[in-house]
Amino acid sequence: MSAALDTRTPQHLTVVGMPVHDLPTPCLVVDLDALNRNVQRMAAYCARHKVRLRPHAKTHKSADIGRVQMQAGAVGVCVQKVSEAEALVDVGASKLLITNEVIAPLKLMRVAELAQCVAGRNGQLGIVVDSLQGIDALGAAMALVHASIDVYVEINVGQNRCGVPPGEAAVPLAQAIGQHANMRFAGLQAYNGKLQHARTVAARRQAVADVAVQIQATRDALHAAGLPVPLVTGGGTGAFAIEIASGQYDEIQAGSYVFMDAEYMDNERDPSQPEFENSLFVLTQVMSVSADHVVCDAGHKSHAIDAGLPRVWTAEDETPLVFANGGDEHGILRAAQPGEALPALGSLIWLIPGHCDPTVNLHRRLYGVRGGLRHGRVDHVIRVDARGCVQ
Ligand code: PLP
Ligand code: MN
Repeated sequence: MSAALDTRTPQHLTVVGMPVHDLPTPCLVVDLDALNRNVQRMAAYCARHKVRLRPHAKTHKSADIGRVQMQAGAVGVCVQKVSEAEALVDVGASKLLITNEVIAPLKLMRVAELAQCVAGRNGQLGIVVDSLQGIDALGAAMALVHASIDVYVEINVGQNRCGVPPGEAAVPLAQAIGQHANMRFAGLQAYNGKLQHARTVAARRQAVADVAVQIQATRDALHAAGLPVPLVTGGGTGAFAIEIASGQYDEIQAGSYVFMDAEYMDNERDPSQPEFENSLFVLTQVMSVSADHVVCDAGHKSHAIDAGLPRVWTAEDETPLVFANGGDEHGILRAAQPGEALPALGSLIWLIPGHCDPTVNLHRRLYGVRGGLRHGRVDHVIRVDARGCVQ
């Protein structure tokens, strides 16, 4: 991790070097050593299996962490939104793939501007489409700039979200892309988010096997039309090893592996995947005590609860605690075994969020800590550059 200074964050100078237990709560703390291990393990796995890694920046929304991933070998980053791309390009990113459909002409003008901007830095922008209308609108915007964009046709491989059906339906789209100056048919996006969270390895294997058949059918249809597929991109933290083993993926888009979260920890571990550690924690303080519970200062404005409540991280010699939602700003903690001692007023509690990506989006900064959670110090502050970039 580079020690890039978060000079635009007013608290920066006052917290660097601070013992972690003095941080203002609630806040997001990143164990930088664990994060670096996660980054290295994923990069090494993809390199060993000869697939490109383009990690999803929707998870961390941070140019700093994206740079660390690229230093480890990533070919660029993925983003979901135009404004996310803008926020990262603003602070130096130049190799990005927007893994989402964009239809509005004004937004597509911004996409074209981004393509122009990154071209000036030897970078490259990519985007995903699933309609002729979207391709035409993108073409109109790209005609106004002197840069090219890589365009991927998204196929629906079982999530039933975006994407054309696998097979023939991709052919007219790939052909249409080729009709536009400044646009290159770069391949297919085949991402199935649901299967990443299938709990058992067997269920994930079965789902990936189905996806592989769908990708192959699409390749065959395009090939028959004289359109080879330059690259297939997709894959996530839950199933990338199985997705790579299917032989259908050239590029992996996993995001959550940098931080992990309680939901991913509930997946049965796939022994063929490298092990990832929890590196993202909500640090919260006990601010009120009662006879059978204590209250901490982290409610669901500090952590997303779409994938369930946070897990309380405790050391082996500590009382296991269970977190209950106390509202926007309150968390209620009870002993997992009734009657066990509860933490005292002022105690610090570490929470593992249910879902890392929307949790990060609630915070302006991540406090990067080295030297362990209990006794570490703030090494540097990581700005969440694309926080709130939902457009
Ligand atoms: N690619 C796309 C298109 C996604 O929507 C997501 C996450 O939702 C990812 C990749 C990353 O998935 P994960 O965070 O599960 O690794
Ligand atoms: Mn997610």
